[in-house]
Amino acid sequence: MSSVLTRDEYTALARSIALPSGAFIDGRARAAASAETFETINPATGELLTTIAACGAADVDLAVLKSREAFDSGCWSKRHPTERKKTLIKWCKLIRRHRHELAVLESIESGKPIQEIETLDLPETLHCLEWHAETADKIYDQVAPTGDDAVAMIVREPIGVVACVLPWNFPMLMLAWKAGPALAAGNSLVVKPAEQTSMATLRLAELAHEAGLPAGVLNVVTGLGEDAGAPLGLHHDVDMVSFTGSTEVGRKFLEYSARSNLKKVVLECGGKNPCVVLDDADNLDVVAEHATTAVFWNMGENCSSNSRLIVHRDIKDALLQRILHRVRDWRTGDPLDPANRLGAIVSKEQYDSIVRYIELGKQQGAKPILGGNPIAADGGWFVEPTIFDDVTPDMAIAREEIFGPVLSVIAVANEAEAVRVANDTCYGLAASVFTSNVKRAHRIARALRAGTVTVNCYGEGDITTPFGGFKQSGFGGRDNAIHAHDQYTELKTIWIDVSDSDLESGLD
Ligand code: NAD
Repeated sequence: MSSVLTRDEYTALARSIALPSGAFIDGRARAAASAETFETINPATGELLTTIAACGAADVDLAVLKSREAFDSGCWSKRHPTERKKTLIKWCKLIRRHRHELAVLESIESGKPIQEIETLDLPETLHCLEWHAETADKIYDQVAPTGDDAVAMIVREPIGVVACVLPWNFPMLMLAWKAGPALAAGNSLVVKPAEQTSMATLRLAELAHEAGLPAGVLNVVTGLGEDAGAPLGLHHDVDMVSFTGSTEVGRKFLEYSARSNLKKVVLECGGKNPCVVLDDADNLDVVAEHATTAVFWNMGENCSSNSRLIVHRDIKDALLQRILHRVRDWRTGDPLDPANRLGAIVSKEQYDSIVRYIELGKQQGAKPILGGNPIAADGGWFVEPTIFDDVTPDMAIAREEIFGPVLSVIAVANEAEAVRVANDTCYGLAASVFTSNVKRAHRIARALRAGTVTVNCYGEGDITTPFGGFKQSGFGGRDNAIHAHDQYTELKTIWIDVSDSDLESGLD
């Protein structure tokens, strides 16, 4: 699918495409009830792109109402599963047709390199939506082993109105992770994109509508977290919240649920993921390739980023040498230039936060061996790939999620220490381990407290494997795979008495 254009072509497209700016409720774009807007800035240039509807409680109420009406009408929830599948597949065709426009929208609002969006985010978004669309008419319910006197069906039904609250780091893909299974199951959705990245989400909603998704089934309320996210979390007619974002905000959604209607809550949160490299790792060139991608991909703005390199002291220098060699190929610059692998940091706030962590690393005694500097370019917010050696597990850069291109290297003496340091975190999203000993690999994979452990590679699995976190990295469910479907449905038992008891008692 991925034909990548040139920088000039992307730049021309960025100048010519219409930038969506209204919330999308009940099948059409709307201004906020208050008529207020907020600014969307291009983080690569610091320039204003457009202003977007700043939704508040009144807009959330309307979106939830329209979502509820659509759900209750059965226009989607009771549509034949095969028809639901066809509509979702048609949506994918439209996304494919508009892929360059979508890629540009996402790149200019998030600072993401266009090359990554075209070759990774968009293909994965489509694969995810198509995969879940196909499940709509392929998942069976169950009949319980009750004996002959009863037929007991265990069925799954859509939950109703599902709020999807999204982060800014993978705007389209995170929407697909949630909307794919939730729509395939027949729910109606109110999506709240991160305020930094509303445009690609709005365009996806328009395309879904064009594909035949009935009005009210996929609504998008744009706005700030406190103004639009909190009213969704507190709403009494929202049946479920599926959230991806920071642990700090995820925690709030549990509170919102407790304070309102006990809506179901699924959280995918942050991580401080370890990459464990032992002294018997097979090929340090291969390890270096994975370790470099693991931390610098998407400027480190990645929940599964392996931001801690926990490496046996005997091979540390040899590995670092190879990583340093590779990072030279990771050019930073204009996100619309396909030659760049690193783009801009999403916002001034995020940039300031990363720079603060780099300063903290230096103050606390870690040794910078690469980067460590902001890059002044065209008024945008860029940070050099940065590596700190001599990090100790108590330092802030070893404990806190930086969400930027910063690698903390911790040397260890043996396997036991490596596992102890790797697990010494409040997070548990992902981990990688490199060793040539299969027994050791298995032992460590079991010992690491993380939702996904990759062995001799970096990754998140794929659409067929569940993704989510242990400890404070997640709560209540998993994205991806067939497991994601369960969380967007309620389980119902239907018990039918088919015994002959009436006849036996003489009644007829
Ligand atoms: P964030 O928590 O700041 O924001 C996430 C969403 O919550 C946004 O839509 C935001 O507007 C909303 N929000 C913010 N404050 C709110 C409030 N008080 N009430 C209601 N809603 C509120 O996260 P972010 O900065 O957009 O994304 C980065 C975080 O997301 C990182 O911690 C990262 O690890 C995590 N993440 C996790 C996964 C995963 O699958 N586990 C995937 C991607 C990102």
